Order: sequence, then C-alpha cells, then structure tokens
Amino acid sequence: MNKQKTIVYKISDNVKEEMIEYFQDKKREKKPPYSIFQADEADTVITLYESGKVMFQGVSADIDAQMWKQREIFLNGKPPVEKETKEKKKEKKDTTDYYFISSIGSDEVGTGDYFGPIIVTAAYVSRKDISFLENLGVRDSKKTTDEKIIEIAPDIIKRIPHVTIILNNKEYNKNYSKDINMNKIKAILHNKALYQLLNKDNFHYDMIVVDQFAKPFVYYNYLKGLPNVVKNLTFTTKAEDKCLSVACASIISRYLFLKEIKKLSNGLGIEILKGAGTKVDEVGKEIVSEFGKEKLQDIAKINFKNTDKILNNK
Ligand code: MG
Repeated sequence: MNKQKTIVYKISDNVKEEMIEYFQDKKREKKPPYSIFQADEADTVITLYESGKVMFQGVSADIDAQMWKQREIFLNGKPPVEKETKEKKKEKKDTTDYYFISSIGSDEVGTGDYFGPIIVTAAYVSRKDISFLENLGVRDSKKTTDEKIIEIAPDIIKRIPHVTIILNNKEYNKNYSKDINMNKIKAILHNKALYQLLNKDNFHYDMIVVDQFAKPFVYYNYLKGLPNVVKNLTFTTKAEDKCLSVACASIISRYLFLKEIKKLSNGLGIEILKGAGTKVDEVGKEIVSEFGKEKLQDIAKINFKNTDKILNNK
C-alpha cells in the first residue's frame, strides 16, 4: 500500500518567489483559501500559502519537500521550520546498535557556511578503538565545543584511519552553478571519501554509516552515472551521536574547517565567521572594501544569498 504523507514547513520570501515561478505551469485552476497556488508535481500535491507556509501531500511528498528544503538551506543558510505532522510523531525509533561495532562512517562540514570550503571525511573505527575514543571524550560531537575539537582532533587524526576531501571555494564556484543541489554535492563528496578510504586498506567492518541528509534512493540517484559508487550504506540521522566512526569523521572535518577559517582570517587580517547570518555579511563587506569583490570568489560560496547582501549593501 502506498503511504500518503503530509509535510508542512515555512519558507522565506526568496524561496517563495522561486516556487511561484517553478510551478507557473503546474498550477491547478482552483486554489484553497489564503493560498497562492496549488500544484501537482508527479505524485505530490503542493500548496503554497500567502504566509509562506507550504504543504506537500502524497506518496512522494518527502522528495519534493526535501528538494525545496535544500533550496531554503542553499539560499538562506538554514532549514525551514517544520511543523510536526501526525506521521512524523509516529515514526518508529531506530534501535540499531551503531556504537559497539567496527564501522566506517562519513560526515561533512561547511555546507551551511558562506566562508570556507566544504570538507567531507570518512573514518574507520575498529571495536578496539572504542575505549581510546571514550577516554578522549568523543561522544556527542555536535555538542562538542571548538576548543575540545582542537584539543582531541590531532590524537584522532594520528590513530584513526581516514580520508578527507576538501572542495575549495574556487572549485565550488567554478563547478557549481546556482541551480545545483547542495545534497548532490554532498553525495558526490561522501562517496568519494568512502571509496578512497575503502581502497586504502582491507578494513574489517560491520557497517558503513552515513549521516543521513537525503533518502537512500535520492542519494544513489545523485550518483547515477558515476564510476565507483560505494553501495551497502546504512543511513541514519544524527549518526554522529550514535556511531563513533561518524563522530570521528565529524570531528576531523570540523577541525580542518576551523584550521581553514583561521588560515583565512590570518591571511586577510580580518576575523572570518562561520555560518551565513548577518554578521557574516558585515565581514564580507569589510573584505570587499579592502580587497575588492573578486576576493569573494576565492573564499566564499558565491551562490549564497549573502553575496547579494554584501555587494548591494543590504
Ligand atoms: Mg552531518
């Protein structure tokens, strides 16, 4: 039986404009009260309300919702606020043991940051490393402070086999146009890191775990046509809390990102900030006034909305 799903969240004005344009030819004739349009996209019915609330309904609702969520993150640096639906509350708990196993895991950093590269690491943690990592205090890596990361990452880098892929800003700006989905970039980089790690040694592992950012079939769809696609991945959300190899991958990525940001700050003599908020715009304006707008090409993700705000002094 096909499962009907409903996903509701609120989007920003710029995404709203894009949606209106995108669904121009897919609109239904009639629309519900207070809505701008109701439209069909394959098996999903999409309703955009004047308030900015958007509702996705149907068996493929999650795919369309995910796509527009990515546009929101891409353009505005953070995901839309999701309303809890009944189905969501009922979602069953994942009880898989990701902790006391030997695993390969990957995680990335920098996809929501205007300045700095995108960094993806894949790491291998054997059962034998568990106590070493516990002694270092590797646990909930999202809650780990930058100071702690700087303290423990060098030890992890020395002991834990890993591969890191860095996509610098020049390359990002050259290859990734406005319309590419950030999730596709992530999929390509995760796959690359995992593939290279698997080819480094004959690791014994129980599972390859990826911090889930897209539904598995969507992930593999992004990799269609590429050689060397790593299969048999286990996707789970909040993987860095559950799985030590993902936690290590996250810590190493974050450590290298912090180093990049520091290097940038030192090079420019201006303190570079993480994220994509209004303070980041201020830093950007300072950089442009001192070094010219071309500088942004080398150090920032040009397709982020920040660029417009920096250059047009908004
Ligand atoms: Mg992640």
